[in-house]
Amino acid sequence: MQKSSLVIVYHRQPYEEVIEDGKTVFKPNKSPNGIVPTLKSFFRRLEPGRGAWVAWKQHEPGDDEFERVIHVDDDDNGGFYVSRLPLTKHQSSSFYHVTSKEAFWPILHSFPRLFSYDPVDWHTFHEVNRLFAEAAAEQADEGALVWIHDYNLWLVPHYLRQIRPDVKIAFFHHTPFPSQDVFNVLPWRAEILGSLLDCDLVGFHIPRYAKNFTDVARGLTGAEITTVVDTPDHLNVPGQALSEPQMPTVLKLGNREIAIDVAPVGADVHLIDEILAKKESAELEDRLIDRMDGRKLVVSVGRTDYTKGTVEALFAFERLLQRRPDLKGKITMLCISVRAASGMAIYEETQRDIEQNVGRINGLYSNLGWTPIVLYSNAIPFDRLLSYYRAADICLTIPVRDGLNLVAKEFVAAKNGRPGALVLSEFAGCAVELPDAIYANPYGNRDTDRAMDEALAMSESESAERMARMYEAVTRYDIVDWINHIFEAFGRVGFDPKDDKPGKQAAA
Ligand code: UDP
Repeated sequence: MQKSSLVIVYHRQPYEEVIEDGKTVFKPNKSPNGIVPTLKSFFRRLEPGRGAWVAWKQHEPGDDEFERVIHVDDDDNGGFYVSRLPLTKHQSSSFYHVTSKEAFWPILHSFPRLFSYDPVDWHTFHEVNRLFAEAAAEQADEGALVWIHDYNLWLVPHYLRQIRPDVKIAFFHHTPFPSQDVFNVLPWRAEILGSLLDCDLVGFHIPRYAKNFTDVARGLTGAEITTVVDTPDHLNVPGQALSEPQMPTVLKLGNREIAIDVAPVGADVHLIDEILAKKESAELEDRLIDRMDGRKLVVSVGRTDYTKGTVEALFAFERLLQRRPDLKGKITMLCISVRAASGMAIYEETQRDIEQNVGRINGLYSNLGWTPIVLYSNAIPFDRLLSYYRAADICLTIPVRDGLNLVAKEFVAAKNGRPGALVLSEFAGCAVELPDAIYANPYGNRDTDRAMDEALAMSESESAERMARMYEAVTRYDIVDWINHIFEAFGRVGFDPKDDKPGKQAAA
């Protein structure tokens, strides 16, 4: 087995494992969009076989052994190795569902009241992170770059740095990073921060999260922020809740420098265009428009999560029906809230809340010919979702906190300059990129109501102009731009895939 120059550490496997005719086959993930296909595409820039992915796979002691490291012959991405870390049900549930989702998730999203300390088994979290680090160390060539993703792997840099001082370590947060006041609620804050400071490069979606991180580092360790630059215009909408006029780019601790990077993930505009150009997409859009029969369509799309503001969106729609009786029978909300598979109590509660409110509101307002809210709890395939975006008049996206929110960008991309309105929470990361959205503060009814009224009253020409400007931003800073940006950031820490050969990165 060849060692890899780029090792991606992401908790999920980069394919779907299915049994066909008694044989295990690895198929590309059903959904063509999302972070997994994007991350896999990084391997395209490498020499074949120089990329590896580390993920976990459920395995109980006594189960049939499985191949730890496999090679995936993925023509699109040049083929790569996958190291599967066997974790027991206890380990995976403790590190992911308990520590990551019940303790870290509420803190990351600034919900300290939901933080749950008692069920955390910190020892298992360490153990699992150490195993990930060992698996990554095994795949990495000398001087390789190991790119770790998200808070559930926060301690991997710490272990990896000990085992492999030669490798470069990069980390990307797909979530928000909270302020010091909130982050410091974590009793393990010093260990987590110490591990992140073992990285060479730490990345975030937007300047505010980078600033929060460097402030936490300064407060807890005395690290110095040595370079701060003006936030580029395309990431700065002055006066908004997440606006930051400047952003840190270098943090210094002792004699080590840590590069800080800001890069909001983009939408796959090319894929969206390609899907929407298909006959099936146009037919579905026509059918939806026919079915709406002149009614306005409001879409709200996301996973079931208390951070996503779905219940707030339902209440906003209910208040709209209350104050605008003229809209009865003339507007429909399509609420897509994809049920969590985890069986976690907090998600079940949110799911129940959504279902009960949809039932209650429909009970109050519907008649035989009109149901105000249609709820889908199962994931809608991406290609269908795009036709829903296209047919919609308003995309109501009001998370109370969201790292980025790709749905908002995809709605804009799918509209391709056609009229429509994006009602967007100020607390979604992408709000700093989309000044032509209609901002809403989901913490106050009045502001969300104003935003909905504005969206409904907007003239077709103004909404087309705004959508066209947003389309330009979303297209310019799309997923390809994000990938290019990340490779540039890798360049800052001395990783260049262009002339990569075994051992070459070490010499660089
Ligand atoms: N999505 C989908 N089908 C659904 C609901 C969502 O394909 O029924 C996709 C959506 O298009 C987007 C992703 O799931 O690409 C959700 O990303 P986002 O950043 O909005 O939220 P996250 O779930 O990552 O917090």
